[in-house]
Amino acid sequence: MRNSKKPSWNRALLIALLILLALLLIFSRGYRAARRAVMPQSRTTTESDISELSKQTDVNDTRQQADLQKPTETMLYNIDRDMLLGFIEPARDTGFVKIIPEHASREGMYMREEAYKAFVRMREAAMMDGVELWIISATRNFNHQKRIWENKWEGRQQLFGGIYATDIADPVERAREILRFSAMPGTSRHHWGTDIDLNSLQNAYFESGQGKKVYNWLLKNAAEYGFCQPYTTHGKNRQGGYEEEKWHWSYMPVASGFLSAFKEMVSYDDIKGFSGWETAAELEVIEDYVLEINSDCL
Ligand SMILES: [Zn+2]
Repeated sequence: MRNSKKPSWNRALLIALLILLALLLIFSRGYRAARRAVMPQSRTTTESDISELSKQTDVNDTRQQADLQKPTETMLYNIDRDMLLGFIEPARDTGFVKIIPEHASREGMYMREEAYKAFVRMREAAMMDGVELWIISATRNFNHQKRIWENKWEGRQQLFGGIYATDIADPVERAREILRFSAMPGTSRHHWGTDIDLNSLQNAYFESGQGKKVYNWLLKNAAEYGFCQPYTTHGKNRQGGYEEEKWHWSYMPVASGFLSAFKEMVSYDDIKGFSGWETAAELEVIEDYVLEINSDCL
């Protein structure tokens, strides 16, 4: 009798061990996921963090793309100053998702999940009407915007109209010229993960042929999906600020929260860390650029 019982005891012991192992695995995965969820907002991003990104495993790669088809209720973000100023790491932040290559002009771009889901629905509706929308720029962090700004400030990139910023001696006037189309680092709506540039960075594209069809479709339908054009022509809906950008669209249900938070939390002391930052207060970039948007978008 003793001998015949022994194998069943061994089997019970083995099953118990397997259950223990499975529990350990589940707990350690849950712990890592919880750590990832809090980490991006609990610390300040540094330049070395950003350069580390390319080596990190992308936590969002494993997201089910089918998920993007499901509408979600508006998420409440705990917005902090780093999120407003662009000190973010979309590839490691669970609030962001990667834009799939078919929707974009290049790989490796991110949007806040809710904004991207809304874009996907809008894109599908546009397709039904024979209009194709694709993203050419989405979330940009502080360092990305700093590269854009300083390339212009230092004369490495031409400005609109074929001039170079370095030809303008007065720093305030130099900044004002760049500000016609580019935001200072820390003040770009592209930091928020809610704003995208579509199809072309030339207003002319949207003024004839297929581009005009795209723009007219957006004017008629984008609002239904939560999108609006913050930088319209100067005049009826806004007095100044950046020039008209027919390509720039913003997901209002989330962006309006970011804009309110920006008003509350960001001051000129926070706008620094790039060439020409000293001109921000004199140019009143918060009042005259960040807040000077199409009143329909407020
Ligand atoms: Zn833009």
